[in-house]
Amino acid sequence: MKLTFELDHIGVAVESLEKGKPFWETLGLGPMTTERVDSEKVLTGFFELGNDARIELLEPTHPDSPIAKYLSKRGPGIHHICLKVNDIRAVMKALKAQGVQLINEEPKLGAHDCEVAFIHPKSTGGILLELSQPRGAK
Ligand code: ZN
Repeated sequence: MKLTFELDHIGVAVESLEKGKPFWETLGLGPMTTERVDSEKVLTGFFELGNDARIELLEPTHPDSPIAKYLSKRGPGIHHICLKVNDIRAVMKALKAQGVQLINEEPKLGAHDCEVAFIHPKSTGGILLELSQPRGAK
């Protein structure tokens, strides 16, 4: 099977969804849909774009959250880019075999009932890259 990649969303770190969402609403996007993702200790807010991609706002729900750490270091801004793949395990295996540094050894459950895994910015030219595969889809 050929592995496929599509832009799924761009993750934006925000201090709170309330502070982060007005700009996107100014564009006319929305309504924002929210979902709590306990595996990442974040509250997410999604805005749908016209091409099936989304903007994901990320608010930390705990001081331990990776987003809380990001905000304290760099302030609000682009946190990661997410590509939707058709076989996350096969992609992870292929990357690993080529020496790419993965943050997660195994996919974990993300927003929208997707399996997700992150690739280290050291291996991508400075971008935290998320891979995502809808569960059940293949
Ligand atoms: Zn994401």
